[in-house]
Amino acid sequence: MSLCLPPVRDEPPVASRAGEVIRVRGLVQGVGLRPAVWRLARACGVSGDVGNDSEGVLIHAWADTPTLDHFVDRLRSECPPLGRIDGIERYALHEIPPPSGGFRIVASTSSHAHTGVVPDAVTCRACTDETFDPSSRRYGYAFTNCTHCGPRLSIVQAIPYDRPNTTMAAFALCDACASEYDDPDDRRFHAQPIACPACGPRLWLEHADGSIAEEDPLDATLRCIERGKIVAIKGLGGFQLACAASDHAAVAKLRALKHRECKPFALLARDVTMIERYCVVSAADEVLLESATGPIVIMPTIDRGTRDPFPGVAPGIATLGFMLPSTPLHHLLMHQLADPIVLTSGNLSDEPQCIDNDEARQRLAGMADAWLMHDRDVARRVDDSVARVMGGASRLLRRSRGYAPAPLRLPRGFAAAPSVLAMGAQQKSTFCLLRDGEAVVSHHIGELENSETYRDYSVSLARYQHLFEHEARFVAVDLHPEYLSRKLGIDIARQRCLPLAEIQHHHAHLAACLAENDIDLGTDVLGIVLDGLGMGLDNALWGGEFLFGGYVNFKRLASFTPVALPGGAHAVYEPWRNTYAHLSASLGWPRFAKHYAKLDLHHFLADRPLTLLDQMIDGEINSPVASSAGRLFDAVAGALGVCRERVQYEGQAAIELEALIDTRTLHNEDDARAYPFTS
Ligand SMILES: [Zn+2]
Ligand SMILES: [Zn+2]
Repeated sequence: MSLCLPPVRDEPPVASRAGEVIRVRGLVQGVGLRPAVWRLARACGVSGDVGNDSEGVLIHAWADTPTLDHFVDRLRSECPPLGRIDGIERYALHEIPPPSGGFRIVASTSSHAHTGVVPDAVTCRACTDETFDPSSRRYGYAFTNCTHCGPRLSIVQAIPYDRPNTTMAAFALCDACASEYDDPDDRRFHAQPIACPACGPRLWLEHADGSIAEEDPLDATLRCIERGKIVAIKGLGGFQLACAASDHAAVAKLRALKHRECKPFALLARDVTMIERYCVVSAADEVLLESATGPIVIMPTIDRGTRDPFPGVAPGIATLGFMLPSTPLHHLLMHQLADPIVLTSGNLSDEPQCIDNDEARQRLAGMADAWLMHDRDVARRVDDSVARVMGGASRLLRRSRGYAPAPLRLPRGFAAAPSVLAMGAQQKSTFCLLRDGEAVVSHHIGELENSETYRDYSVSLARYQHLFEHEARFVAVDLHPEYLSRKLGIDIARQRCLPLAEIQHHHAHLAACLAENDIDLGTDVLGIVLDGLGMGLDNALWGGEFLFGGYVNFKRLASFTPVALPGGAHAVYEPWRNTYAHLSASLGWPRFAKHYAKLDLHHFLADRPLTLLDQMIDGEINSPVASSAGRLFDAVAGALGVCRERVQYEGQAAIELEALIDTRTLHNEDDARAYPFTS
């Protein structure tokens, strides 16, 4: 076969019955694109074939030119819901006689690796309807899925993405499922996780004493939740703990058992109508909630005065994080519940969630009253994603289930860049594989200081490199000498004899922001980075930075005034330390004490060991200076009496400070005054 270049797209029509090779790039494998092409070709009267290869999907098509144009236009606009077409290239095809007729799906010719692993997707409408249809053979089945929905990243163990390489390999297809799987006209054609009650995974409810509930496991789960119990539910990406959101005692017990004192819990609701009883849901929120990615969406609560419908779920803040059911299991559960439930990761605070049945029995013993289990293994821990609509656009706060590992297209200029393995930072860690102008950012992994999380990070790193057949030419690490991701990156670079690139933390933030906004390589901007702490080029801690530059270089134009963190790490957890340091640096304690002696802040601080703190700050003993924006927020929060003594989770003081803003005043122009500044 020979292909004649260049593309014919903008050239005069070729022969009346033209042959073309059509190359489709993007997120095009494992998403049902081949059967979609097959159906479209038959509908348009195009003959030929379609198959996967290492670059995406390749079509050989014969028809008259207007028909081919129409076929390609429809292909562009009728991409299956989980797919993303980034580009279609067309080449004239010579020297191959047109086929006798018909259109075929051909077997893959090579590795699927480049585009073969897609994110998990929430249950589609057709599968939900089927699960609730008494005449369907999947009626009430918790693992219903099809080509347009269901597990993906969470079940893949190896490439190519075919059933034997997933945790569904243990379930042999029954005849009915096999015929759906083989039928290009069926929406389950080549749906790798296809299952039904006859051949697929099964559910059961296990009590703490190991006994199995005799009744229907979902009914038994509902009864446990209604009686104030905590149930460990094996979901898509691991075990989660559930209890009734309105049951104060159950929520308080869950907090105590998880050692999670204040950090908000996520809620699961049946539908948007249920959420609207508690939150102001904008049109953009609704779109996000109902999308195939299905993240937790943070929304403002309805002002109910002092009455809190869910005491203890989100203490001190005026928002709630809701998600909708993402699997048939969650749909079936919520269908019978009148109120939302708390659904939080099955773990102790800061540890990764359990994925294995035995592991969950052991690690969640004492936390859960019962376990809703199933026999499909979770190949990879995948947390729920978290999003929030800001300024009318959705912003991801945690990119995980539904989003990872979909590759992000990088701006022009990156296609020629060498493959990079980027190790990420320390808290809320992810890593990134860069290749061919795309970035594969891992699912959210978490705080690497925790040994279980660090183990998860190392294992995931190895698996992603294998799944994407990624061979790094460079390793990029953060400058901070104590970050475990950096240490591992240095080891990898040494073992593989690869060059190491050390990246300043806030320069990485700036570059990520440029990529997000599709700014080309070579463009310089002023980037304002408001962050907690990161290692600077001068070995000092940075955080509130004004950087001028682009992807490659930057200049630090200005920063927030560096102020001491008395007590080092203690200052991160005790906002009053920052309040004192900022007061000392700006006003001086004697002046503050003289003029503001009546403030309760004065009484509070006067009771602290201020002489010792002064000695630490003056002597630079365990009191590094930092231009941190995060610690400035802490200082202001502490001054106002918000989380003054201690925060229970990262960012708590800033979040509760933000909650004090009366958003109604922001819409009043008289009140929306900015701080004066001179340029
Ligand atoms: Zn479906
Ligand atoms: Zn079956």
